[in-house]
Amino acid sequence: MPSPNKYWAGTPNYTSGNQGRLYLFPHWTEGGFAGSVATLQNPNRQASAHYVIEGAKVAQLVKESDTAWHCGNWWYNCRSIGYELVGWTGNPPSYDTLDTCARMMAQASRDYFGGAKLVHGRNVILHREVSDTSCPGTTDIDWLIAKANEYLGAAPAPTPSPSPTPDTKSGIWYEVHTSQGWLGAVDKVSDAIDGYAGWNGKAIDGIRAHRKDGKQIKIQAHILGGG
Ligand SMILES: [Zn+2]
Repeated sequence: MPSPNKYWAGTPNYTSGNQGRLYLFPHWTEGGFAGSVATLQNPNRQASAHYVIEGAKVAQLVKESDTAWHCGNWWYNCRSIGYELVGWTGNPPSYDTLDTCARMMAQASRDYFGGAKLVHGRNVILHREVSDTSCPGTTDIDWLIAKANEYLGAAPAPTPSPSPTPDTKSGIWYEVHTSQGWLGAVDKVSDAIDGYAGWNGKAIDGIRAHRKDGKQIKIQAHILGGG
């Protein structure tokens, strides 16, 4: 695959700034490339995404430092990057399109998550998980994430299969906080403390744990110097 061939398209549909870069949202367009870009540039539609992707072709509509209106959930919009993959019912995003998105998501992990592995439900969220929609439909999300992790140095993604394996991941994951905000998530407390200690010169001043099944969990932490 060639490198992503990105160009600036722009849109009036965005909000300046962001509340952190914690989540990546792959979507599907339910329309062709040009029509989807035009729709997301239409001020009457009140919708956008950072990118529209088809094969190696990438239109950027919103700067990553600004907030795109892509997931119908303001909290997540302010904390995420949205990727619209050209595809629709009966014609899901191609593996070339997924490959381009995987490269971009790997780069986002390097830029915002310290290169952390991408995990569905942790730092990759689906539109249908936060809004009343079926998006991204039958997009092969498992392969997309495996491919992104391959670009981040994990084992190669499997040969594309039409039947994705069920999500059996479970357990607890952690986030740490510094004066720069919440940082990328990790599997172990020790990874959080060691991996982010002094990250970008900022001390850790908070930590929180999540259960992947969404149930509540209590943790107690004592931050040195934090009282
Ligand atoms: Zn969507």
